[in-house]
Amino acid sequence: MKLCEKKLFLLDMDGTIYLSETLFDGSAEFLDTVKRNGGRYVFLTNNSSRGTDAYIAKMRRLGIETASDEFFTSADAAIMTLDPALTYYVCGTASLKNQLAGAGFRLSEEPGEDVDDVLLGYDTELTYKKLEDCCILLMRGAGYIATHPDLVCPTWYGSAPDCGSVIEMLYTATGRRPSRIIGKPQPDMALAAMRKFNCTPEETCLVGDRVYTDIACGVNAGIDTVFVLSGEGVPSDCEKYGVRPAYTMQNIRELLSHIKH
Ligand SMILES: [Mg+2]
Repeated sequence: MKLCEKKLFLLDMDGTIYLSETLFDGSAEFLDTVKRNGGRYVFLTNNSSRGTDAYIAKMRRLGIETASDEFFTSADAAIMTLDPALTYYVCGTASLKNQLAGAGFRLSEEPGEDVDDVLLGYDTELTYKKLEDCCILLMRGAGYIATHPDLVCPTWYGSAPDCGSVIEMLYTATGRRPSRIIGKPQPDMALAAMRKFNCTPEETCLVGDRVYTDIACGVNAGIDTVFVLSGEGVPSDCEKYGVRPAYTMQNIRELLSHIKH
């Protein structure tokens, strides 16, 4: 199916739609055009530190009105895939804990005997105590899951340590890595979005700036992908990670030119 016929666009945000606090040229027109063509879009983010409300507010600051059902975060994916019968120690933000607790998950604030699994998120409120708690649990043999694998988060000054960097730190300390990592490149968020909006893989397209998370997620979900070079990815990443996007484009404006009728 041609790009201009796609019904559902799954969009990465940072590096794809905007960079930090600056909307890319063409993003607003792209979103308008998707809707005018009778399609829809969903923003997928691996960032588990903030809830959907924070993204709606950010998009509004950038001049784009969005609704909560237009976002999937790796916290949403965690809620869909974790076992509600287990007790979790969450190394993550208050926002992540509130989302999980709100969905009915049993959480423990201490590394007690009742904890089954450690869930590691992007913890912008990380403390040494939390790292020690994780080590206590991991050395004891608790289950270990991470919300996403991203090593860094893009910021105005460059990169900040994201969930993947803490995975490496805990590996150095304990010799353990998560047995499961939930967000992109796993296909769960893409599959959930297609289910929610009743679209087939053929009708769906994923757009992102990172090959090892975004594009791999689309490939794993069996949908067409557009790799945009407006963020952190470079063309040689495709070979480096062995992932082949359906299309490679400079930016969202180039994609816009393909979907205009
Ligand atoms: Mg990105």
